[in-house]
Amino acid sequence: MKKKLTTQQAASNAALLAITSETPFDKRHDCWFCGEPNQYVFNYSNTIEYKVSESRTIPKLSLPSCKECYQVAKSSLTKAKYEGHYYSIWTIKAQVKQYLIHHHRKDLAIGINWTKAELEESGFEEGNFAGFQRSAWFMFELARARVNYVSWPLIVDGITVLDEYQEQSFNFDDVVYPNIEQAMQHYADTLSLSLDYFRSVLELLGDNNFAKAVRFCRLLVAANAFERQQALRQLRLDVTQLNVSKSNHT
Ligand SMILES: [Zn+2]
Repeated sequence: MKKKLTTQQAASNAALLAITSETPFDKRHDCWFCGEPNQYVFNYSNTIEYKVSESRTIPKLSLPSCKECYQVAKSSLTKAKYEGHYYSIWTIKAQVKQYLIHHHRKDLAIGINWTKAELEESGFEEGNFAGFQRSAWFMFELARARVNYVSWPLIVDGITVLDEYQEQSFNFDDVVYPNIEQAMQHYADTLSLSLDYFRSVLELLGDNNFAKAVRFCRLLVAANAFERQQALRQLRLDVTQLNVSKSNHT
């Protein structure tokens, strides 16, 4: 009996959460995830659990999507249901972004390895790499725009549902990553750095010094494991001494 009531309660709560995820007029052709032209509609339904009491969650939603995002979102939701997990729409969005970063990693790498001017002056105007030189920056900008695309807000009962992943997102060099782990992974892949080593360096220097951590690891890219460990020890000493001298001054 009690169980039945709970189910009824959940159903009525679900009914109360009328979804008015109206697409803004200027975004009517956009994919909600990445801003590319939309051709599909991703139907989100979360039948596993209603977390209404903790925070407002969305039981049902239809979002315009491009083919690529639609496929990723759909398989992410199917997997969650199969495994009996609760995935919010924000979890799915973070997974779509993660996919985009991974799938377009070569295009995104252009922006890490080159500036626009450097690429224009790279001297490949003729020959086999002329096409690459012409299109590389454009491909980078396209990939970055999809990764960075800001989805329009979802409104339930006139209240904007907060993106629970917003706080985790990490912005570095004009690219927005779903979280700092994704950024580390991307830089480690692109620059052939050891991810574990990069993580240790970043832990020492702090998340605000992401650029410095990248530079430090790049300095040691040709070093062997022993030299890298030595460098890490030295860095730890430097950071500790810096902290000591800072606390002496305050
Ligand atoms: Zn898309």
